[in-house]
Amino acid sequence: MRRLALHWQILIGMIAGVLFGVLMVQLNAQEFVKDYIKPFGTIFIRLLKLIAIPLILASLIKGIADLKDISKLSSMGLKTIGLYLVSTIIAVTIGLSIVNLVNPGSSISEPDRQELMASFEGDANKKIEVATKTKDNGPLQALVDMVPENIFGAAMSNRNMLQVIFFAVFFGIGMILIKEEQSRPLKDFFESVNHVVLKMIDLIMLASPIGVFALLAALVVDSPSADVFIALLWYSLCVVIGLALMILVVYPLAVKAVTGKSIPFFFKGISPAQLLAFSTSSSAATLPVTMERVEEHLGVDKEVSSFVLPIGATINMDGTSLYQAVAAVFIAGALGIDLSFSDQLIIVMTATLASIGSAAVPGAGMVMLVIVLGAIGVPEAGLALIFAVDRPLDMCRTMVNVTGDATVSMIVAKWEGKLNEPNVKDWDDHYQKA
Ligand code: ASP
Repeated sequence: MRRLALHWQILIGMIAGVLFGVLMVQLNAQEFVKDYIKPFGTIFIRLLKLIAIPLILASLIKGIADLKDISKLSSMGLKTIGLYLVSTIIAVTIGLSIVNLVNPGSSISEPDRQELMASFEGDANKKIEVATKTKDNGPLQALVDMVPENIFGAAMSNRNMLQVIFFAVFFGIGMILIKEEQSRPLKDFFESVNHVVLKMIDLIMLASPIGVFALLAALVVDSPSADVFIALLWYSLCVVIGLALMILVVYPLAVKAVTGKSIPFFFKGISPAQLLAFSTSSSAATLPVTMERVEEHLGVDKEVSSFVLPIGATINMDGTSLYQAVAAVFIAGALGIDLSFSDQLIIVMTATLASIGSAAVPGAGMVMLVIVLGAIGVPEAGLALIFAVDRPLDMCRTMVNVTGDATVSMIVAKWEGKLNEPNVKDWDDHYQKA
């Protein structure tokens, strides 16, 4: 009997997880979920994170060493960074247009505002503290932070992904510059590691329906009451509509226009990564699956994907930047602060930079939002207003972040003449073989 396609399995796991969570809340069995269900979700995310660093190292070093000459690397690098910037600015602009049109800040009533501020003040303060640490650093700190002092130290934490990328690119450049026969053994080694890691991803993905079930059940059990969500409905709708425009209109049209690939082909290929991004709220945890989907199902050559995707997962966050723009205007509106046109331009700039600086982990976008708020003179304590709905919006924006990376990788591949026919014609066979 044919097994159900993976994206359906994941979707069923997600829906079942939500229903199970609701049922457990009704039965007052939240502790059971925390003790016996949530750990499986945590294990699933750990497995994904576990292979992120070996995957980046192996595929990026191998990918760059294959480029053969440095000029190819710089041409691909420029295209990648340029596209990432353009897509982020498009996202912020869409977010700003929607939020200015709807003006959700004005719809939140005074009592609701007081209540939200009071109940989430403590949580907001923690985020502000983290962000203040970042702000206290000099303007070039981000650049300094990219360069590791010690590769093992860098590889010890998934938060240092940019440092690992830096090392891998540098190492790869070293390999291009030595003689072919000298670099051959290393290339073979990293290629072999890469194959093994990809197989490990296949195996982890077999457990993904259970993983997302556990993650979503635990999330439902932890969520605040529905009343709070309703007060924030218009704000959430603005974010979700903006994100939906990116996923359903901007990316598919860009893929179709530049690569000629059909929209269903794009969605069929990328959907498991999207669903996983939604369930884990982390582009870093999703990266291994994004890479596998893009290479084997969308036909992007490894040479391109292994360079474009790890960088994208760390710096290209279109969903996050869109959300930050909407949230900043919403908080300003709710606190009765008028924003001028130049304030809006500052939002475009700071949200672009803040999204680049956000780590690819759950809730990171909200930490960096503090910087956007600070730049336009809105009190950071306003974060408390949006805290309650941040997790569901984080899930949605992470989906956009991952889809944006996949889109750019397809476009760069097309421009570099590296967009192939996908390896796996029948994409489910792949998992059935695993
Ligand atoms: N969770 C997002 C990501 O990993 C970042 C954020 O917006 O919080 O892509």
